[in-house]
Amino acid sequence: MDKKKLYDIIEAKAPLLTGLSDRIWEYAELSLLEYKSTAAYVQVLTEQGFTVEENVCGIPTAFKGTFGSGSPKIGILGEYDALSGLSQVPGIAEKQELVPGGCGQGCGHHLLGAGALGAAIAVKEAIASGELSGTVVFYGCPGEEGCAGKAFMARDGEFRDLDAALTWHPGDTNEIMVGSNAACIQVEYTFTGIAAHAAGDPFNGRSALDAAELMNVGVNFLREHMKPKESVHYSFSDAGGISPNVVQPIAKLVYMVRSDTVRHAKVLLNRVNNIARGAALMTDTQVSWRQIDGTSDTLSNQVLEQLIHENLSIAPLPCYTEDEIVFAKQLKATFVEGPLPGTMTDSIPALKKFIQEKTAGGHAPLNDFVIPYYPSNAFSPGSTDVGDVSWLTPTAQFNAVTWPSGSPGHSWQNVACGKSSIAHKGMLLASKVLAGTCADLMEKPDLLAQAKEEFAVTAADGYDCPLDKDVVAGPQ
Ligand SMILES: [Zn+2]
Ligand SMILES: [Zn+2]
Repeated sequence: MDKKKLYDIIEAKAPLLTGLSDRIWEYAELSLLEYKSTAAYVQVLTEQGFTVEENVCGIPTAFKGTFGSGSPKIGILGEYDALSGLSQVPGIAEKQELVPGGCGQGCGHHLLGAGALGAAIAVKEAIASGELSGTVVFYGCPGEEGCAGKAFMARDGEFRDLDAALTWHPGDTNEIMVGSNAACIQVEYTFTGIAAHAAGDPFNGRSALDAAELMNVGVNFLREHMKPKESVHYSFSDAGGISPNVVQPIAKLVYMVRSDTVRHAKVLLNRVNNIARGAALMTDTQVSWRQIDGTSDTLSNQVLEQLIHENLSIAPLPCYTEDEIVFAKQLKATFVEGPLPGTMTDSIPALKKFIQEKTAGGHAPLNDFVIPYYPSNAFSPGSTDVGDVSWLTPTAQFNAVTWPSGSPGHSWQNVACGKSSIAHKGMLLASKVLAGTCADLMEKPDLLAQAKEEFAVTAADGYDCPLDKDVVAGPQ
């Protein structure tokens, strides 16, 4: 079909989409507490004629909206959760809290969700008018930041019936996301000891805090003997009481264990578990643990990536006004100078040259161009729950420019820019690219078959869910 028609639908829905995005920015709800955001999406999906299912997989803030019938069935993934401690006045280039101690959309998930929804609505209208045939499913995926909502949905039966899944992420480049992300498993360890007066009768005490510290020391020694793509991170979620004059009877640590595959992450986790057992043994305390969440490594699908890149290259890129450029420059002045943008910049000399020229050495305030696509199996040490979807159906994702070049991840600057026209323009671009890609998949069965062929090879080992069967999704 003529993609201009899809773009026109999205432009006509722009007030609805930007309004929704701005509302989610204001709600700024943390992982699995996205009740207002969910209600807003459910209302829009219902009004737009989707068949809505709430409480998907028993998660109160997971939902999906379906339109159409038959195959192909294409999923478009949306997110909406925010981050703690990032409340920020919008539209200014200085750090200033909007709500003291409040949350903020530092990862741009308000744009991610609304942009994805814009694509689903455009495809829905094309199906309704008979220009496309198939099924489009908008997935409301909660808790990306703090619980790996998609992994729970994947474990409990979602995504398997899709022919492909597409999504995007706000960023500072217009670029295909390539390569793989690490698998990650998150576990909380609880040490239980015996309280005692630290000076009076410490011999009667058994310190859970000592056990936790010894566990951390043990893991520090483990690090030398891990594989290159593996990493382990920790925090104290409970260090016992605040009085040093007490032998602390309880202490809790949260660990994140990362590796290149879920299987390897599970092996590494077992070594960490043994260290926890050893720390308990050394201190005559008890240890127990519970899994919090987990994400799979990401399988790329180069057929889909190529297709998204084609759509990103033909969609009209935003033109920025003088005011937008001035605001972007003001924000950029608050960043620490980082490397040149682009995932593959350092590894491909021709790409580095291209980006150097396009960005004036990284100094341009907004990256108003599309980064060329280079297929890659490069490994990125971070994790995403899109990985779990990617093991169940061919999946691909891209970035669109929603904030100035070099804006740090999870930053107040991203929140400050999140309601701006710069952000809205990037969001609508993402809607157009996703809708155009979805239309191609519905109209060109050969392409979908190629994507599935590739998927059959990359996912040949089958989905090894990082989550144990009894782990329940819950806010942290
Ligand atoms: Zn994030
Ligand atoms: Zn994010």
